[in-house]
Amino acid sequence: MADTPTPMMQQYLALKREAGDALLFYRMGDFFELFFEDARIAAGVLDIALTTRGEHGGEPVPMCGVPVHAAEGYLARLIKGGCRVAIAEQTETPEEAKERARRDGTPVSKTLVARDIVRFVTAGTLTEEALLEPRRANLLVAVAPVRDGVGLASCDISTGRMELEQCAPDALDAALARMGASEMVAPDDWDAAAADMIPRPRADFRSEDGEARLKAIHGIATLDGLGDFSRPMLAAAAGLIAYLDHAGRGTLPFLLPPVARGTGAHLAMDAATRTSLEILEAQGGGRTGSLIACVDRCATGAGARQLAEDLSAPLADRGAIEHRLASVHHFHADPLLRADLRAVLRQAPDIGRALGRLVAGRGSPRDLGQIRDGLSEARRVRAMLSDSADLPALLQRMCEALGGHAALVDHLARALVPAPPTERGQGGYVASGYDHALDALRETSGNARKAIAALEAKYREETGTPSLKIKHNKVLGYFIEVPAKHGDKLMAADSGFTHRQTMAGAVRFNSLGLHEEATRIAEAGAHALAAEEAHFETLVGEVVAAREAIAATAAALARIDVSAALAERAVEGDWAQPEMLDEPCLEITGGRHPVVEAALAQGGERFVANDCLLGSDDRLWLIGGPNMGGKSTFLRQNALIMLLAQAGSFVPARAARIGLADRLFSRVGASDNLARGRSTFMVEMVETAAILSQATARSFVILDEVGRGTSTYDGMALAWAVVEAVHENLQCRCLFATHYHELSRLADTCDKLTLHHVRAREWKGDLVLLHELARGAADRSYGLSVAKLAGVPAPVIKRARAVLDKLEKGREQTGGLAAGLGELPLFAATAQQQDDKPDPVRTALETLDVDALSPREALETLYALKAQA
Ligand code: ADP
Repeated sequence: MADTPTPMMQQYLALKREAGDALLFYRMGDFFELFFEDARIAAGVLDIALTTRGEHGGEPVPMCGVPVHAAEGYLARLIKGGCRVAIAEQTETPEEAKERARRDGTPVSKTLVARDIVRFVTAGTLTEEALLEPRRANLLVAVAPVRDGVGLASCDISTGRMELEQCAPDALDAALARMGASEMVAPDDWDAAAADMIPRPRADFRSEDGEARLKAIHGIATLDGLGDFSRPMLAAAAGLIAYLDHAGRGTLPFLLPPVARGTGAHLAMDAATRTSLEILEAQGGGRTGSLIACVDRCATGAGARQLAEDLSAPLADRGAIEHRLASVHHFHADPLLRADLRAVLRQAPDIGRALGRLVAGRGSPRDLGQIRDGLSEARRVRAMLSDSADLPALLQRMCEALGGHAALVDHLARALVPAPPTERGQGGYVASGYDHALDALRETSGNARKAIAALEAKYREETGTPSLKIKHNKVLGYFIEVPAKHGDKLMAADSGFTHRQTMAGAVRFNSLGLHEEATRIAEAGAHALAAEEAHFETLVGEVVAAREAIAATAAALARIDVSAALAERAVEGDWAQPEMLDEPCLEITGGRHPVVEAALAQGGERFVANDCLLGSDDRLWLIGGPNMGGKSTFLRQNALIMLLAQAGSFVPARAARIGLADRLFSRVGASDNLARGRSTFMVEMVETAAILSQATARSFVILDEVGRGTSTYDGMALAWAVVEAVHENLQCRCLFATHYHELSRLADTCDKLTLHHVRAREWKGDLVLLHELARGAADRSYGLSVAKLAGVPAPVIKRARAVLDKLEKGREQTGGLAAGLGELPLFAATAQQQDDKPDPVRTALETLDVDALSPREALETLYALKAQA
C-alpha cells in the first residue's frame, strides 16, 4: 500500500507522460513546481535551490519551483538553455473542484484541482516580448525529406511570416544555415536528421494534410493563388502546422499565407561561406564583430530583423536589387527626410509582434495600444513620404501598404487609455468617455472611498466613538472596527451592528448599511471589469480581422526602415551606390572591409583602400605577399561588397561595378580553424570539393590559403590543381590568396589569371606592411621578417636566416619545389583525357531529338538517363 502514489503524484505522472521530454511546470497556487529529473535540470540551468517534497517509491522526490508572477524570466533562461517547457495550469478553482467532488460523491479531501497542459513553450513558438530578441527573427523550421527532394517550411510565429521551399538533399545544409532556426522538427523515421532536430511522427508530414490545413487556415479553396507549392513543400507545411498544433494544444498561432521561395531568386551561400564571412555572427560567436553589427543602423527591431534576412539571403535578380538601391539612394540624397523619418520610426512600436500575440490569444491591452500607436506612426510615415518628390517605385509600393487603417486607429484611440497595461486583470485600460455605462460603474466603485468615509463619519457620531474605523481586508471584505473597550456599546442587540470577530485589542462588526454599500461597490467593480473585458475582446476581434493588412503595414515599415538605415550607414562610412551589371565583372575602386575598417578606426588607424578589377579577360587573381599583409582582408572585403550590393545596400568603396553573381563561396585554409574538432584538412578539402562541384561561371569564389592544412608538397600540389580547375573548368571570378611562390608560374599557362601581391617594405631592418595591393608576383618571402615583427628572439631569427640561405641555394641548383612543373601538360588537356572514353549519357543526349518527344516520353527518357549516370 505504501507504494501507491498519492493522487497528486498520479496526476503529476500522467501529465509528465504527456509532456514527454519537455520540462513540466506544474501549477500549485502561486508557484510552478518541477519534480524529479525536471527539477534537477531546471535547478541547474536556473541556479535555484533544489529541495525535496514527500516520497515516491520510498525515495525523496527532488523538487524546485518558480513563482508564477516571475515565470517569464525563468522560462526565458530555460529556453535559452535549450529546454522545452510544458505548462500545466489549474483548469478549475478549488471551489469548483469541491463542487465536483460533492456531485461525484467522492471525498473532498481526496479531490485534486484538475490540471491540464495548456501550452508547450519552445524556442520556436515564442510570442512574449520578454522572451524574444527584438532585432532577431525567431524561426521554427520543419524539414520533410521526400524521395529526391527536401521540403522546408519555416515560420516566425511572432510575426506570422511563413515560407515554403524545396531543395536538393545536398543543398539542405546551406538552406538551414541561411535560416538559422531557433527550433527544427523532422520526421522521426528519418536517418539523416541532425541531432538538434526534434523528431515528430512521420504521419504529421503528409502533403495532402499540409494542403488541406493551409486552405482551412486561410479560408481558401485552392492554393494556386498563393504560389506554386510542390509536394515536399506541402509535406513540410503539414509537419510545421502539426507541431504548432501540438505546442499550442490546439490553438494555432498567427500564420500569414505562405510564400513559395523559388530557387535562383537569391545569391546562394553555403554554411562554410556564411561562417567565414561572419555575416550575422562573428567567428567567436555573438553579433559583435559581425557584418550585421557593422551595418545595422535600423531604428526599429522589425527593421533589424528585415536587414538580417536581406544579408542572409541577398538577391540574384537585378531588377529587384535596383529597386532596393533606388530606395536607399532616395534617403541618401535627402538628409532631412531621412532624419525626420528615422525619428518617427524610433517611436514606432513593434506592431508585427504585438499582432502575433493578439492573434495567438496571448495579447494584452498594451499590445492593442502598440497596434494603435504603430499604425498611426505608419500614417505619419506615409504622409512624409508622399510629400517627397520622385519617390522610387519600391517606396511607393510600401507607402500604399501603410494606410487604410484610419477607422481602426480611430476606434482604438477612442477606446483605450494612452498607455494601457500588460495585465488586464485589474482593468483600467478602457478610456473614460468611451462607454457611458462603464463610466457610471467606475464612478460607483470610484466613489467607494467617499461613500465609506461618509458612513464611517455617520457611525462615529451615532455611537459616539471617534476611534471607530471602517476597514477592508481580503477575508472579511469591509468591516467596522472599534477598540475593545468600546465593543460593548455596539454589541447591544438594538445597536444595528452585528458582531463578526473579536481580536486582541479590537472588536469587528458588520452593519446592514455597510453590507449594502460594500455589495454595491463590489458589483460595480465586477461589472466594470466585465465591461472592459468585453470591449477588449471586441477590439482584439477587430485587429485580428485586419491582421493581413496590419502585417503588410509592419513589413512595409520594416522595409522603409532598412532603406533609410542603409542610407544612414552609407553616409556615415562614405559608401557608394554600386552599379549592377549582367556581365561577370567585379570592378571595385577604393574598396574597404567595413568591419576591419571600423576596428582600426577605434585604434585611430586608417584602412588602406584597394582596387579589385576582375573581368572576363582577367577573372582570377592570385595574391601573394607576407603574412599579415592584408590578403584575407582583401579577399573578404570584395566578397562582402558583392554581398552587400546584392542585398540592396551601398558598398564600402569609392565606386563599384558589379556583375550579378549566382553563388558566393568563401573558403579559408585549415590552419585558421584549428579549434574545430574534425580533421581540419579534411574539412578544408570537403569544402573545396563543394566549390568545384557547385560553382558556375556566374559565381564568385574567394580561396584563402587553401592547401596549407597539409604538408608543403601536398598543399602546393592541391592549390595548384584547384587554381587550374577554377580557371579552366569553372571559369568564374576568383581571388586566390597563397603563400606558395611557386604558384606564380601558373600565370604562364592560365591566360585569364594575373599575379598580385600585398606590398611590404623593409625599413632599417624592420618590415613595414603597407596593406596595399600591387600587380605582379611577390618578390620574396617575408616570413623571417614577420617572425621578427612578432617578437621571435634575434638569435632564432639569425639561425633561421642561415638555414634559409642553405635552402635557397639548394633550390637554385635543383629548380626547387616546383622543378619540372613547367613541363606539366595543361589542365584542360588532362581533364580532356578522361573524356576520351565516349560517355553513354552524352552520346544518348547528343542523338536525342527533344522536340519529337511527348512530355511523358521526355520524363521516361530522363529516368532512363538518370539510371545510366
Ligand atoms: P594576411 O591574410 O595577409 O595574413 P590579414 O588580411 O589577416 O593578412 O591582415 C592582417 C591585419 O592587417 C588585419 O587584421 C588588419 O589589422 C591589417 N590590415 C589588413 N588589411 C588592411 C588594410 N587594407 N588597411 C589597413 N590595415 C589592414
